[in-house]
Amino acid sequence: MASQGLLALCLLTVAGLGAASPPPNVVLVFADDLGFGDLASYGHPTSATPNLDKMAASGLRFTDFYSSSPVCSPSRAALLTGRYQTRSGVYPGVFYPGSRGGLPLAEVTLAELLKGRGYATAIVGKWHLGLGPHGTFLPTHQGFDHFLGVPYSHDQGPCQNLTCFPPDTRCFGICDQGVVPVPLLWNQSILEQPVSFPHLVPRYNAFARDFIADCARRGQPFFLYYASHHTHYPQFASQEYTGQSPRGPFGDALLEFDGSVGRLLQALHDSGVDQNTLVFFTSDNGPSTMRMSRGGSSGLLKCGKGTTYEGGMREPAVAYWPGRIAPGVTHELASTLDLFPTLAAVAGVPLPNITLDGYDLSPVLFGNGKSPRQTMFYYPPAASQLLGAFAVRYGKYKAHFFTQGAFLSGTTPDQDCHGLTPLKAHEPPLLFDLEVDPAENYNLLRGAAVKPEVLAALKEVCLQKARFDQQMVFGESQLAQGSDPSLQPCCAPQCSPKPSCCRCPSAS
Ligand code: MG
Repeated sequence: MASQGLLALCLLTVAGLGAASPPPNVVLVFADDLGFGDLASYGHPTSATPNLDKMAASGLRFTDFYSSSPVCSPSRAALLTGRYQTRSGVYPGVFYPGSRGGLPLAEVTLAELLKGRGYATAIVGKWHLGLGPHGTFLPTHQGFDHFLGVPYSHDQGPCQNLTCFPPDTRCFGICDQGVVPVPLLWNQSILEQPVSFPHLVPRYNAFARDFIADCARRGQPFFLYYASHHTHYPQFASQEYTGQSPRGPFGDALLEFDGSVGRLLQALHDSGVDQNTLVFFTSDNGPSTMRMSRGGSSGLLKCGKGTTYEGGMREPAVAYWPGRIAPGVTHELASTLDLFPTLAAVAGVPLPNITLDGYDLSPVLFGNGKSPRQTMFYYPPAASQLLGAFAVRYGKYKAHFFTQGAFLSGTTPDQDCHGLTPLKAHEPPLLFDLEVDPAENYNLLRGAAVKPEVLAALKEVCLQKARFDQQMVFGESQLAQGSDPSLQPCCAPQCSPKPSCCRCPSAS
């Protein structure tokens, strides 16, 4: 009888395994330099973002969601690893076309994590975590099966070599000179150089659609990281979107990005996997207000890109999974750092044995709504062990121990944001209650009578900073390794004179 019982148990287990639903697909949509105030669903009066707004209305919209850094490369390193950029060495600043360093291969990326569970993995768009010698640091060495995109920011090449729409229109502003024209890569090969921007996003959308359809047909779970160039400067859009927004070139670029989101959702629906796919949307850092009206908006938040004020790192974010995530708005604390452990839990993958800085947001997405995250630490682009975190958020309180302006946050009337505003230490720190004062206008420690609960909060944030700084182990700086012009990607390696000769029209 005992053996019969065992057999029945085994059969039940096998049946149970057979009936288990496949792990969900993940689509991670990442905007570039899109600010807290840039979407209609976050209060912008003239942005046209119908697809993102639909996602926000049907999904869970975050009001207190943070990237880990106010600039691109460190933010992306943390997104993909669940670890502060200081650990992986992605500081100070960002990678350039000839950078020697990159996201260390020893880091475990989201793609590697999910690949271990049988996921197909792809990245479309902007990488910006290094190329290195022989493309050592490109996505195909970091867990991605496919890469269609630009290995860095699209202003890291001569603007006059970009093709904007209409043809022969020069892009606004000044891009980097003296480097190779911006290439479009397929895995490690250059497809065209310079990339044709009016045709780029339709190409990305077609790839994303085919990748989704192909995985769905094969019944393989997938992870698609759609890292848009929009709305990073210089703004561009394909013919379909040019001149269509009341918000000018920035609005057109945003409209094209929104159109891509609509196409992704449509592709999931058409492939019959929309009920088994978590779509998460956010942005890498705040708006580049040095570009004025072509650089985005942080809404009511202070400053933008490059600073540790709220406008630099607080981002719009939406988690969307029809039937699984209830529509709503959450004011809980959350960060890009949390996506790594959250997606591990969603996919049923055990966490690797590494130090993580993220929390599993499953309770926020599927449970009681409470976030396990109580703190957020703010590093400037040039993070240093000497100063540690510039600011700390603990619950509703935020303390600035150091502040500094950034050229990327220039042009607005607030002098605190500007590039010539020097590093300033605050002893005691500036303390704000972000629930009543999200714009960081009113220092709670200014004035004679400070409430006991404010003093208690001050003590706690100081304690949090001391603990955090003490346990942070800085990885060797990847940016300190400098650049080598010969590492810049060139489609005609033997050509002369470099870098301007690196030009190859698309073969496709
Ligand atoms: Mg960015």
